[in-house]
Amino acid sequence: MKFDLDHIYIEDACRDTPLARRILSRADAVAPISFVADGREVARPQPGVADSFATGKRRMVVMRRRSPFLMACPAGSAKFACCGYLVLTLASNCPMDCSYCFLQEYVADNPGLQIYANYDDAFTEIDKLSASAPARHFRIGTGELADSLAMDSLTGMSIDLVNFFAARENLTLELKTKTDEIENLLRVDPRGRVMVSWTLSPRRVFEASEHGTASPAARIASARGLLDGGYRVAFHLDPIVVYPEAERDYVELLDELFAIISPAKIAFISMGGLRMTAGLRAAARRRFPKDAMLLGEDVLAEDGRYRTFAPMRIRLYKILADKLKSAGTAVPSYLCMESSSVHERVFGAAPMHPAEAGERLALR
Ligand code: SF4
Repeated sequence: MKFDLDHIYIEDACRDTPLARRILSRADAVAPISFVADGREVARPQPGVADSFATGKRRMVVMRRRSPFLMACPAGSAKFACCGYLVLTLASNCPMDCSYCFLQEYVADNPGLQIYANYDDAFTEIDKLSASAPARHFRIGTGELADSLAMDSLTGMSIDLVNFFAARENLTLELKTKTDEIENLLRVDPRGRVMVSWTLSPRRVFEASEHGTASPAARIASARGLLDGGYRVAFHLDPIVVYPEAERDYVELLDELFAIISPAKIAFISMGGLRMTAGLRAAARRRFPKDAMLLGEDVLAEDGRYRTFAPMRIRLYKILADKLKSAGTAVPSYLCMESSSVHERVFGAAPMHPAEAGERLALR
């Protein structure tokens, strides 16, 4: 997959970084390039533009990250059963455009497609964390504020990342994507320490809502390719959208997956229902007024997000959890951003402590 860019801006201070040099050597045919003193100026919404979030996706800004790279997953809180995931922010915004994407609200004031050139500092942060708890195993992912691989053919960052994690025993890198950009990954040896995960949706959701992404079949084929290349693979059914044919479509999706990848080879499959703050719901419906997937029966939940009516989403979770349990080898699964009580109703047991859950998932 290759994404169109309108312009590439490179911060002066990043001009001589390996990332900028790689982009400069490849970008001639991609988009015009300018140098700027402060990337934050061009990452902001541009005046007079109707959909500045959409245009931001096409304006790449290579810049320094001024805040820490590593943080606890923002989905984790006292309210939710948590998987102990740590987020590494190497980029912000995404060239694809899913109608339900939380970035529509989260980076509305900062929509440029930012790639952080000082990612050596991220490696220093990770080494410090790891040295502070040598007996622990950390699962660290880059796919929170950006797709992990969408721009990889231009940036080549995945090669440095995989090489860094491959050399460290107590770390697992999780790259999360909706693309089939796997060429760079196939050039390096992850030594079993890198997991690549794909969000999977039924074709009906893909066609209605996941604009610019690789098809579900292409995502599964990429996973197969990386599995053969020594990577661990995992999947996220997230967001799960409830619509009239959803039960049949999601079960069929798992059947399609298991026909290509044996359940025994899958590290885990997470599940999470469609959830939207009022601000995100308004932005999504304004930008995608024809997307029926955004118009399901939702109610305002205790956490201030609109969610599918609980009995409907729990029913679908249970059907899928049963399917995973009976898949020959049971596939580990967890719920994202759901309470312990929902977890118990779906799996019949309380969730593990976040740190334990994180370590188990990292080591699968
Ligand atoms: S692929 Fe992920 S980050 Fe990109 S638009 Fe879709 S949901 Fe957002």
